[in-house]
Amino acid sequence: MSASPCVRIHEIYDCIQGESTLTGMPCTLVRLAGCPLNCSYCDTPDAIPFDSGEWMTIDAIVAEVRMRNRPLTLVSGGEPLAQKACAGLLSALADVAPLLQLETSGALDITGLHPAVRRIIDIKTPDSGEEARNRWQNIEHLKAGDEVKFVLCTRSDYDWALHTLDRLGDALRAGIPVLFSPVESSLPATDLAEWILQDRPPVRMQLQMHKHIWGPEAMHV
Ligand code: SF4
Repeated sequence: MSASPCVRIHEIYDCIQGESTLTGMPCTLVRLAGCPLNCSYCDTPDAIPFDSGEWMTIDAIVAEVRMRNRPLTLVSGGEPLAQKACAGLLSALADVAPLLQLETSGALDITGLHPAVRRIIDIKTPDSGEEARNRWQNIEHLKAGDEVKFVLCTRSDYDWALHTLDRLGDALRAGIPVLFSPVESSLPATDLAEWILQDRPPVRMQLQMHKHIWGPEAMHV
């Protein structure tokens, strides 16, 4: 019998999903260690080093998720896809998780994952400092259940995002939700709300619910 592959895990805990169209669902968050990006607004900097956290076997992670028995499992990071064993972890979790989301930076290839995985891909804006990392080929692989998220730092990020919606044409026509989320320390939610109401882009606005529950220092999921 071969040993279960290992994944570097930063932490596993229960929370309320604070983002995406599944906001508000009780959730087990599986946070993988390591990220090759360095976004200006990153609120999980402790998870950026690839040597943070500890190795766990996929079998042990699945057992932990099964024991927690939540309706939603979210695999996040760091950048989970930066670890080669992530695809195997997602396939194993798909067998035990009623709903399974993956939060990814959008910088790495999202193809080849278990079809049950609902992928939430970021589009990195200029003020994130990581615009050059966007892997635009990912857009053509989006399917029902996936979502696209822009985290906006400033008015100029918002204007850039409006312009960038043109690049999402087929995904938008297919009904893939597009989420605009303000960096709450630099972009007042009221400003973003008013801009969206005025300009009528085909997007949803979201706030980070977990920060309203557990305070502004609560980690980004
Ligand atoms: S991709 Fe996510 S984890 Fe990585 S630096 Fe950006 S916000 Fe932080």
